[in-house]
Amino acid sequence: MGRVKRGVQCSVRGCPNQAVRSISVERAKAAGLEVEGRRAYLCEEHYREYKRRRKREKLVERWRYKPF
Ligand SMILES: [Zn+2]
Repeated sequence: MGRVKRGVQCSVRGCPNQAVRSISVERAKAAGLEVEGRRAYLCEEHYREYKRRRKREKLVERWRYKPF
């Protein structure tokens, strides 16, 4: 994860926003984002969505592996 240079466009298909963060494509896809290329560049909005989805995934995992 890292900061992104100015002028890089968000990698999510159809999104015209300027990217603010980059993550690996695997992570982005795991979070359900439609991205292409080696790095996924995300705009503010999609980065927030990525974080939100990851959080939800963790909750599901915790529920799934809950010890009885
Ligand atoms: Zn975007």
